[in-house]
Amino acid sequence: MINVAIDGPAGAGKSSIAKATAAEIGFIYVDTGALYRSVALFALENGLDSDDLVKSLDKINVSLEFIDGSQHVILNGADVSDKIRTAEVSMNASKVSAIPAVREFLFGLQKKIAAENNIIMDGRDIGTVVLPDADLKVFLTASAEERANRRFKEMTDSGVTYEQVLEDIKQRDYNDMHRDISPLKQAEDAVLLDTTGMTVEEVKNKLKDMILEIKPEK
Ligand code: C5P
Repeated sequence: MINVAIDGPAGAGKSSIAKATAAEIGFIYVDTGALYRSVALFALENGLDSDDLVKSLDKINVSLEFIDGSQHVILNGADVSDKIRTAEVSMNASKVSAIPAVREFLFGLQKKIAAENNIIMDGRDIGTVVLPDADLKVFLTASAEERANRRFKEMTDSGVTYEQVLEDIKQRDYNDMHRDISPLKQAEDAVLLDTTGMTVEEVKNKLKDMILEIKPEK
């Protein structure tokens, strides 16, 4: 199986790029942020603090379904794909993702999907922790302002301003890069791709070229 790992900060364009590229080359696109968001949603809906969440992990059943190439997240039987795209869930996902038991809980699921499919998987620790032997690792980034602007346009909740999104992005960057476990950082063997000022089409073509150059060793 061919495994492509894409990491980078929030709003770097990982999901749109990975999704579009995967569709073109017939790979499955796996958005691992959605898994952390689902655990965050569960904690919010049940009013759980970190300790209670860890104790309740055995009550969480998260799975991914791929319908016409598009990923759906199923949390305890309900499709929560839209519900996890709010600012509140984003911020809480950043918090729960710093809990070692939560990362461990989601690790096996990510490994299993990668072992069984040709995938482009995006997240924060895919190239460093989840798939250290990925065939290609890309670290995708862009300026905080450009990333905030992109995220602002895709938010599903109203009443949030661009300034708030920018603040959230900066706070999440800080959280993701400074946590003790699996912090966001570029893997030594990852290709750095700064997408500031690039169109989705340009980045997609660049990524596609890199994937087509992979020579599977297995
Ligand atoms: O990618 P997205 O913004 O949806 O991710 C939500 C949050 O989940 C991130 O801020 C990050 O804290 C966490 N995350 C993570 N590891 C991953 C994917 C996401 O810690 N592989």
